[in-house]
Amino acid sequence: MNDLTAPLAVAGAGLSGAVIARELALAGYSVHVFEQRPHVAGNCHTKRDPATGIMEHCFGPHIFHTDRPEVWSYVQQFSTFQPFVNRVKAIAGHRVYTLPINLLTINQFFQKTFSPEAARHFIAAQALPRNNEPRSFEEQALQWIGAPLYEAFFKGYTQKQWGVDPAQLPASILQRLPVRFNYDDNYFTHPYQGMPTHGYTALVERILQHPQIHVHLNQTFQRPQQNAFRHVFYSGSLDAWFAHQAGHLRYRTLDFHREVHQGDFQGNAVINYCDADVPWTRISEHKHFSPWETHTATVIYREYSRAAAPGDVPFYPLHLLEDKSLLHTYVQLADQEKNITFIGRLGTYRYLDMDKCIAEALQTAKICRAALQADQPLPLWSAPPL
Ligand code: UDP
Repeated sequence: MNDLTAPLAVAGAGLSGAVIARELALAGYSVHVFEQRPHVAGNCHTKRDPATGIMEHCFGPHIFHTDRPEVWSYVQQFSTFQPFVNRVKAIAGHRVYTLPINLLTINQFFQKTFSPEAARHFIAAQALPRNNEPRSFEEQALQWIGAPLYEAFFKGYTQKQWGVDPAQLPASILQRLPVRFNYDDNYFTHPYQGMPTHGYTALVERILQHPQIHVHLNQTFQRPQQNAFRHVFYSGSLDAWFAHQAGHLRYRTLDFHREVHQGDFQGNAVINYCDADVPWTRISEHKHFSPWETHTATVIYREYSRAAAPGDVPFYPLHLLEDKSLLHTYVQLADQEKNITFIGRLGTYRYLDMDKCIAEALQTAKICRAALQADQPLPLWSAPPL
């Protein structure tokens, strides 16, 4: 449609959709946001449990961390943040270690008292030579830390998490995690890290609070509705826009088995279970995500990963060869579309952290604002999926 006065539509009220909606509303556009769920905030949705008073991360742990000062100051506009450092523990071979792998992990695992330099030499002697660019998760791990640490901490967990042999997975998944030769046990390396005081849903609600933004909960944006809008920003699954006509893009989904206990269940927010014979991947204890609060009861989620079936919540896109070729088909179909921008984790079929979603949404909104003002075509993607 060419009606320049027509409103804009955003499908999906997760971080990507909310930030784009706000930036375009601030530029004077009227924006309708359609969200199929009964709440905003997508998979970072949080909810205070009425029985225990604990703030739950309903779709699993979300810890805000970034190295982008502009993203950190952007989110501060909508919520205060409490200091939070993610210090993950991992159980492997019935023993508890610290994760990411650091000097304590190495010393405990090998029962040594290495200095940083000695540990570096020891691990280098176990690692495979780095004479080629690693082609898979497994190759990356073997070149990085060698077989004993790989098998204890990564092999079983990764098999459970992704449902395939790590030799089939891209190296980029492991590149998310550091290996340290000191006692730093902060899971993330970013300089900014924290938790929104009243949860992520309150934060996203604030982003969407603007007189030019109209949020429609419990409404799935349907393709024919596109005609009523000047442009659509679509953060649903790319293949869903095309009614899965070429097949389903594959995702891993998570099942959370929720339990309520008294006191302290595990003494930490996240404990990973690395052994293949334990069926869950990790247990999160949600009151420890809000250490500034006090609760007598406790809520835990045991997390199980499996292939997403139609109707399941998609979490992690698979990026094996066959997924790439199906993705390529959808990218070609998308090339034929007009007046739509595919955005965010699901719209571009990528494994995206929250800060990256926000950074990309801000950048996309900036480009789109200029294009709308100049009456030029808007980009098809917030970032290319391939
Ligand atoms: N991973 C692992 N063992 C662990 C933690 C992570 O093998 O104890 C691997 C696993 O393949 C996982 C990847 O490292 O998918 C990235 O981990 P991250 O903690 O970033 O995953 P997320 O929190 O996004 O699920």
